[in-house]
Amino acid sequence: MTLTIPFDNSYARLPGAFYARQKPEPVGAPKLVAFNDDLARLMGIAPGEVEEMAQTFAGNAIPDGAQPLSQLYSGHQFGHYNPQLGDGRAVLLGETVGTDGIRRDIQLKGSGRTPFSRQGDGRAWLGPVLREYVISEAMHALGIPTTRALAAVETGEVVLREAPMPGAVLTRVAQSHLRVGTFQVFAARGDLASLKALTDYAISRHYPDAQGSMGLLKCVRDAQASLIAQWMSVGFIHGVMNTDNCSIAGETIDYGPCAFMDSYHPNTVYSSIDRMGRYAYANQPDIAVWNVAQLATALIQQMEDKQAAVEEATEIVHAMPDLLQEHWLTRFRAKIGLATAEEGDLQLISDLLTRMAQNQADFTNTFRALGSETARDQFTDPAAYDVWAETWQARTARETDPHATMHTANPAFIPRNHRVEQMIQAAVQGDYTPFQRLSAVLTAPYDDQPDYTDLTRPPADSEIVRATFCGT
Ligand code: AMP
Ligand code: MG
Repeated sequence: MTLTIPFDNSYARLPGAFYARQKPEPVGAPKLVAFNDDLARLMGIAPGEVEEMAQTFAGNAIPDGAQPLSQLYSGHQFGHYNPQLGDGRAVLLGETVGTDGIRRDIQLKGSGRTPFSRQGDGRAWLGPVLREYVISEAMHALGIPTTRALAAVETGEVVLREAPMPGAVLTRVAQSHLRVGTFQVFAARGDLASLKALTDYAISRHYPDAQGSMGLLKCVRDAQASLIAQWMSVGFIHGVMNTDNCSIAGETIDYGPCAFMDSYHPNTVYSSIDRMGRYAYANQPDIAVWNVAQLATALIQQMEDKQAAVEEATEIVHAMPDLLQEHWLTRFRAKIGLATAEEGDLQLISDLLTRMAQNQADFTNTFRALGSETARDQFTDPAAYDVWAETWQARTARETDPHATMHTANPAFIPRNHRVEQMIQAAVQGDYTPFQRLSAVLTAPYDDQPDYTDLTRPPADSEIVRATFCGT
């Protein structure tokens, strides 16, 4: 028996140049370790028997109507163009249109080798699968556009990383898996027919009101500007903002070495492979602009009048930093309780951030507690907070309800690195209690949940996670 999934597969109807037909490789002893009931219902999938779901989300049983394929794309990795990437360890089963009318991809990640695997084994281990499950669902609950997690399965097989690790498959759900790199591959190859077909497809799937390829560029720019401002507002560091990890739909995608900051510093980097700090916290807005510029370069290839296209695309991309700044300011105003705008607000926010960086203040806890004793306790020198708070109070006196504004802008709970690591360690030992606890609290990150106060605590020195890994 396989699960009944109401597939309607638009990507599989595109020309063959876009993908390779590829079935997932079966695994030895699949065991369902997580299933997202709410998301399943939204997608029109009725949960089945546990064994049936384990077989389906491991890739052992292909549900009726699925048309499994691996997608082709390329991309700039750390600024260098790689002419062929593609789904090296993932298979798109197909799409469903949810009860909310939204079309979503269902993809198995860690499902075995594909024609795009290069040196890789096509597999994933349990750690990154649970990381992505927890963090992507937390992002969703925080209100930030993201791919989501439908299921996680242990494969019963071992994958070799630095050490033998338990294998796992994540079922990822996305509004699509179109990336900037999906456009780049056809542009770089000079395959203009495919580039044109892809442009039409992206417009009709994501931005039906967009006018032509420059209209699409504008929509992606706007979606990315809004997204990155939201990342900044919760201290999220993606870690691998390569163009193949930049979603056309504007969702956070490819949770590799991503992390939430504990103590605030703009130069924070966790990813072990980001040696130059290209993707450091404060660089994310600039990198997003760079990525959108790569999309512009790709889209231009199909335009008749190149000169005019270059001018239009340049104007679109050049407007992005200001857009980002506007989104950023709106988000950070809310974080300090401002629903109205005044001239000096940017200065006020920047001053707080500078003091936080100088005093190793915890990003999440400081904002959550602004105005209370707990906030000043975050600063190595609490007087640094007091000086700022005086100016801040004079400003918030002109606001109607600053605390209400702050409450919905400043989460109490984030998936802290040390908790994520502890959750993985436990799961590898067969204990899923920390995974369940973390998942539960993060469904309502803006609520005070007194039973979970321990999960608001920053890491002790011995718990600090200094580096995160791609998990590939
Ligand atoms: P990522 O860093 O996860 O965005 O992956 C970059 C590229 O490497 C993509 O083309 C992936 O499909 C590929 N890749 C990552 N891990 C593996 C793996 N274990 N086996 C095969 N390909 C992989
Ligand atoms: Mg990727």
